[in-house]
Amino acid sequence: MPFSLLKYGLSSDYPVDVDLPAPKELKSSYDVVIIGGGGHGLATAYYLAKYHNITNVAVLEKAYLGGGNTARNTAVIRSNYLTPEGVRFYSESVRMFQSLSNEFDYNIMYSERGQLTLAHTDATVRAFRQRAEVNTHFGGRTEMLDRQQIRELVPSLNMDPGHLPVMAGLWHKDGATARHDAVAWGYAKEAAKRGVEIHQLTEVQDLVIEGGKVRAVKTNRGTIQCGCVVQAVAGHSSILAKKAGFTMPIISYPLQAMVTQPFKPFLDPLVSSSALHCYVQQTSRGEVVFGGGSDPYPLYNTRSTLDLKESLIGAALEMFPFLSQARLMRQWAGTTDMTPDYSPIMGLSPVENYYLDAGWGTWGFKATPICGKTMAELVASGGKTPDLIAPFALERFARFRQVNEMGATAASH
Ligand SMILES: Cc1cc2nc3c(=O)[nH]c(=O)nc-3n(C[C@H](O)[C@H](O)[C@H](O)COP(=O)(O)OP(=O)(O)OC[C@H]3O[C@@H](n4cnc5c(N)ncnc54)[C@H](O)[C@@H]3O)c2cc1C
Repeated sequence: MPFSLLKYGLSSDYPVDVDLPAPKELKSSYDVVIIGGGGHGLATAYYLAKYHNITNVAVLEKAYLGGGNTARNTAVIRSNYLTPEGVRFYSESVRMFQSLSNEFDYNIMYSERGQLTLAHTDATVRAFRQRAEVNTHFGGRTEMLDRQQIRELVPSLNMDPGHLPVMAGLWHKDGATARHDAVAWGYAKEAAKRGVEIHQLTEVQDLVIEGGKVRAVKTNRGTIQCGCVVQAVAGHSSILAKKAGFTMPIISYPLQAMVTQPFKPFLDPLVSSSALHCYVQQTSRGEVVFGGGSDPYPLYNTRSTLDLKESLIGAALEMFPFLSQARLMRQWAGTTDMTPDYSPIMGLSPVENYYLDAGWGTWGFKATPICGKTMAELVASGGKTPDLIAPFALERFARFRQVNEMGATAASH
């Protein structure tokens, strides 16, 4: 073994930097139990510790950190939604993303490259104009582009894909990507540094509810008393809610994505087509990532299918024909918790101290920072809903006050 390896490897001048402390025994009780160690659960833990000094917190993750949809998403970050409620909320998240690398002292590889959504019909052009107006009103950088401008922005794009000529585009300069694992690990590392306990391989199997309040969670490692619970389990939201004794209008569908071999850089912006139901982007490593809508049937399964592969590749080739030479490297899926209006369900639940962060479907990665911040505010205030998430309350469905983002979500995520 080279001497320098021992000299520097064992030197106290260069201590080993451990991101997460070794696992501890579970305590018998915590002030806050967070179910789900994805980005949302970890961000909530971090902001509870950072802004509210609440550190007697356990994040319970049944598998490994960020191994759910946080690890499976295609990392699209944007705020060009349709409703004022949606635009305000996601814009704040985009702002928070921009400073996360500095805040964590950890590179989340935030890359602002803009997002272009193609319109192939008059109706879509009209809808995009409205989105551009709403976005601009709330400070977003979103505008309409004509065919010539699109050609200049993305020279390799087929302007007449699938007999659906591109008529115009919605250009969102704030569109970005970030390394999803780094986001989860950044939050985990900083939360743990402040005293939060993160327990992997710890599954919440049941809840103890008495007098309308949650008193304890039952896990595969024993029962833990708790002051309150935050449920942040994405695709498993309905299952957990059922254990808490209520239902939510959420159905879980698989969502798949895939990636090719690396190419030299040819595509800077993220490009999506709502008519072709497909989006294409190139990673900083040169791979081409593409995805589309959820599978058309409910299922708790993360297998990938040949059907989807064929239809999605067909759509991607219509947009970028030269990709017919590409070799596909990987295909994967996650379980997405879809709501009827394509907006999340956040805030109070029918159980007094049981808080919800759910309904993140195909669009929740971009909301990770603002979810963590607002969920932490909700918990710390003992259930006072922050204004920003008030429109996303579960009770909106009983009051017919949906926040419809279906058209602005579709295949763009
Ligand atoms: C293929 C794909 C592409 C996507 N692309 C985008 C995109 O480009 N942009 C975007 O904004 N969003 C995208 N999304 C959606 C996004 O990934 C999710 O909305 C987001 O990651 C949700 O984060 P989370 O922390 O709530 O959930 P997760 O990361 O899924 O974390 C939930 C965790 O809860 C754990 N859990 C479940 N049940 C229990 C239990 N009983 N006890 C303990 N732990 C439990 C799970 O193991 C999991 O780790 C995509 C999703 C998929 C699948």
